[in-house]
Amino acid sequence: LFEHTMDGVFQAEPGGAILSANPAACAMLGLSEAEICQRGRSELLDLSDPRLPGLIAARQRDGQARGELRMRRGDGTLFEVELTSALYQDRAGRWLSSIVFRDNTERRRLNQQLQAQVNLLDNLSQNVPGVLYQFQMSPDGRLSYPFASHGMRTIYEVTPEQVREDASMLLERIHPDDLQDVLGSIQTSAQTLQPWRFEYRVILPEQGLRWRVCNAQPERLPDGSTLWHGFNADITDRKEAEAHTFRLAYFDALTGLPNRSLLRDRIDQSLAQARRNRQYGAVMFVDLDNFKQINDARGHSVGDHLLTEVAQRLQALLRVEDTVARIGGDEFVLLINDLGQDVEASARAAMTVAERVRATLDRPHQIDSFSYTSTGSIGISLFPKAGQQIDDLLREADTAMYRAKSTGRNRVAFFELTMQHEVEERLALEQELNEALATGQLRLHVQSQVDAHGQAVAGELLVRWLHPLRGLVPPMRFIPLAEETGLILPLGEWVIEQACQTLARMQRGGLTQALSVNVSARQFRSDDFVPRVRAILQSTGAPAHQLIFEVTESLFIQDWEHCLRRISELVQMGIRFSIDDFGTGYSSLRYLQRLPLFELKIDRSFVQDTPHDVNDTAIVRSILSMAHHLGLEVVAEGVENRAQADFLLANQCDRLQGYLFAQPQPLEDWLAQMGLNDTSPA
Ligand code: C2E
Ligand code: MG
Ligand code: MG
Repeated sequence: LFEHTMDGVFQAEPGGAILSANPAACAMLGLSEAEICQRGRSELLDLSDPRLPGLIAARQRDGQARGELRMRRGDGTLFEVELTSALYQDRAGRWLSSIVFRDNTERRRLNQQLQAQVNLLDNLSQNVPGVLYQFQMSPDGRLSYPFASHGMRTIYEVTPEQVREDASMLLERIHPDDLQDVLGSIQTSAQTLQPWRFEYRVILPEQGLRWRVCNAQPERLPDGSTLWHGFNADITDRKEAEAHTFRLAYFDALTGLPNRSLLRDRIDQSLAQARRNRQYGAVMFVDLDNFKQINDARGHSVGDHLLTEVAQRLQALLRVEDTVARIGGDEFVLLINDLGQDVEASARAAMTVAERVRATLDRPHQIDSFSYTSTGSIGISLFPKAGQQIDDLLREADTAMYRAKSTGRNRVAFFELTMQHEVEERLALEQELNEALATGQLRLHVQSQVDAHGQAVAGELLVRWLHPLRGLVPPMRFIPLAEETGLILPLGEWVIEQACQTLARMQRGGLTQALSVNVSARQFRSDDFVPRVRAILQSTGAPAHQLIFEVTESLFIQDWEHCLRRISELVQMGIRFSIDDFGTGYSSLRYLQRLPLFELKIDRSFVQDTPHDVNDTAIVRSILSMAHHLGLEVVAEGVENRAQADFLLANQCDRLQGYLFAQPQPLEDWLAQMGLNDTSPA
């Protein structure tokens, strides 16, 4: 070992002369063994080296020492060594010391070079915006930053040391809405070894919300880890600038509302969605009637103020999913989605919105202690129509708006003239129906129901509206309207009242016919329906067992339990229940069995084609047999000829109602015909 090792070795007396030196030592020092032994330690070591006393002290204390020193070659030049010195005993028991040393010049040079590079990197990264890093994900998913430059302090507000081993604390600083996406992007980059680039938000203790971008190249390490080299920088300013540009491009600077570009975008989406979902929507042009005058007379700041306020009022009126846009001076456009699946109902809904817009614009604006009123003219166009594009829709609404203006401002006009007509007509009807109820324009007719012998054993009350100008309005024209507007509640109650008064009179006159009253679903479901009926029965003294309520099957679709309870309560009072238009609705046999019903009325449409049509005949037969099995009576509606009557009677239909026997006739006429001659007022 002594002869062949590449390290230099001396054998010496402890603290004394060098006894031998190996060939490697001779080569390093450029001296022969004899020369070395002759020169001794004091010449071969650099005695001025400040590291020397420490080494000597260590060896004396511990018996061995290790360290770095300078040595002197034969030619007098100094060089760096790394050395160990230890005491040992030879075979004779003599204490000796060994000194083993190795030229350290190259290693020191490399170390210095490395340090210089680290310093360089540090210096460079000090002046780079953001942080340079090595980022590592272990196979177990642990995240760490083996290297991170100083910039870590600004980018994440942590020191590089804090995240060297474990970077999980940084996840808490990522915006919760972005965290999943950030983690997903890391995984993707790790799997594909494609660069990791991502923009996301962080929330930092000092800086608050900031935008960050990362950009790093991954590599796979032998242990399955992924190591990225890259940087992370602040892009908050850029993001804000982008948002600003977006606002400029798509929003009106004065009011903050969407501008024409964004409106077009939204209309495009709405059209597609409306076609897909079979829903109608509307575009409304709103033009302020006297904005120009106010603006000219009072100046632009007042004008601007007015526009801003109008914008706010319009926005407050609409749902979030609708759009209010400003597309020019005093022109606003409303885009309203999902009005309904029926075109006429949608038109009415649009009209309701437009009327609300008109009403909100009607309210005066208070600006600098002055009060201004600027009414609006509104044009509506419905979508989607076949082939209709964005520009068509905008043009149509614009056209309608001009019509509204030209017919006297502060108006609402539809582009579709038929809609205009329909909507206006309904609005008028609605107002008039209100009056009709108050001024006694409603009349009751009765249609007899006859038994197998042709005897009128019951009658159905049917309401009529005797309009001062329109004449007799049929119920199909105003009952649905009354249902929609809620007028059905007072109207329906009035009919029940009339029925009960009539029943009381009939009882006094000895008439035993039952009277049927049609009860709308909305009326039946109203909170106080049961107590109101009870109060009417009490105040009129009517025999409840002669009162029949006709309801339709649609009633049972909603809230079945509640319905069942309510019917049972009324049945307890003695009132009987009949299913009107049976067979046209939700015909579930289940409710027939569970409800305390009295009768079914087979809808006119089935009766019409008996006994010729095989299918309808079969349906009527089965309704009859099923009803009888369940203990229900059956009335056939709309019996118009003898053949129908014969067929129905042959199949045990209990009662028949239709033009063949009697038209609906005014209540007093019917009572007189039944033989009542009292003097009570109608
Ligand atoms: P409904 O209860 O099914 O009434 C039967 C309708 O059929 C009545 O029409 C009646 O005049 C008609 N009709 C009777 N016999 C024949 C016939 O042989 N042939 C044909 N083609 N028709 C016949 P009306 O009076 O126009 O009433 C229509 C609907 O209006 C009623 O249908 C009912 O749903 C509703 N209605 C009427 N009065 C009231 C009411 O006071 N309250 C409520 N909620 N609805 C009512
Ligand atoms: Mg009826
Ligand atoms: Mg009916």
